[in-house]
Amino acid sequence: MNRLIDASFVTYYPVQETTENLKIETGDGAAHRQAHVKGYGAHTAVYYMLLGQQGAERGPPCVRCKGTCTGFQTHSWRKWCGLCQCPREDHSLPTEVEEDHRIGQLLSDTRYSGLTARVKGSEGARVYKRNRMIITNPITSRKDPTFLTVTYEWAPPGLNQKLAMRYMELIPKKLQPVAGTEGAHYRRLQLVKQLPVHDYDPKYCKGLMEGEKPIMEAHVEKIKENRALPCSAKQEEKDPNATKTTNSAAEEPVDRTDYLCEFCQQLMPADAPAVYADRAGYKKQWHPACFVCCQCREPLVNLIYFWKSNRLWCGRHYWESERPRCTGCDEIIFSEHFQQHDGKTWHTEHFSCAGCEQSLVDGPYVLDSALLLCSTCSRSRAAH
Ligand SMILES: [Zn+2]
Ligand SMILES: [Zn+2]
Ligand SMILES: [Zn+2]
Ligand SMILES: [Zn+2]
Ligand SMILES: [Zn+2]
Ligand SMILES: [Zn+2]
Repeated sequence: MNRLIDASFVTYYPVQETTENLKIETGDGAAHRQAHVKGYGAHTAVYYMLLGQQGAERGPPCVRCKGTCTGFQTHSWRKWCGLCQCPREDHSLPTEVEEDHRIGQLLSDTRYSGLTARVKGSEGARVYKRNRMIITNPITSRKDPTFLTVTYEWAPPGLNQKLAMRYMELIPKKLQPVAGTEGAHYRRLQLVKQLPVHDYDPKYCKGLMEGEKPIMEAHVEKIKENRALPCSAKQEEKDPNATKTTNSAAEEPVDRTDYLCEFCQQLMPADAPAVYADRAGYKKQWHPACFVCCQCREPLVNLIYFWKSNRLWCGRHYWESERPRCTGCDEIIFSEHFQQHDGKTWHTEHFSCAGCEQSLVDGPYVLDSALLLCSTCSRSRAAH
């Protein structure tokens, strides 16, 4: 039984790091990753379509500012609500369907496109076949047996149900993506945080200047090129006999004793599910709860990771290791001219007061954590 969980849905790799660990055999197959896949139909990604639109969009009220915010209002370039200045995530999160479309887009044209399906009636759009797990337990204590159904909104691929359940037991209860719980909300929130839609699609960017769209596209393309590096998994997909061999024990790492978790350095139990990342090689393994970003230490959502400098990164922090991010609009800065103060960066045109929106490039400013204010707005806020 394969107890290893392949985390390699998306592996981005900087061009300069073409070292030998790129050639490591993955030994996994697309076929066994698709267990427990439920059906997905053609839907429209409403959340993200709205995100890309200019003008007055109204959404659900803010959960943080109960009563005072009557509904999310888009700002012309900031990502927060124009009414209450809280992030969009405090108003609404993308639905599961929207999320699957988004990850599908991320995985299309890569070696992981086997994890996606074509959206009917659309041109080339793909949807992620998310691995949902539904567990039904009979309750036998009553006279008429009833069933208790627990839905995990995401489960690791390539494991049978028993091991997938063990995987879930190995992560803290509050992080388990059980539908309708805090854990499910957390997973969807992390998806928005770790893989912001404006990191990949210029259509959602409002900070791009004239002529910068091609620069951004080239950056995203560079990432895609890295994803498309020749690797064994891609060849196996073409070979109909390949899945048989990849599922056999012979394909598993030979020397499995004494593995230490890459994160906590504790011994990996030989019979429990372990996460590996094909870019890192079979010799590196992680406890399910230890597969975290090297910067924010948050568990990598859906096991989507970036591998750079021998470390795991979430999408957000991988990008930030390559280019500065604007504190104002949260987008990656592609211009060589930008504002830099107190270790934070801004598009020059977004270095403006959060209260009155006046530019502060030439004037005095107050920086209250990530909130940039002019001295007047700063004084009036302090008075309240
Ligand atoms: Zn609001
Ligand atoms: Zn609010
Ligand atoms: Zn560990
Ligand atoms: Zn991170
Ligand atoms: Zn900006
Ligand atoms: Zn101001």
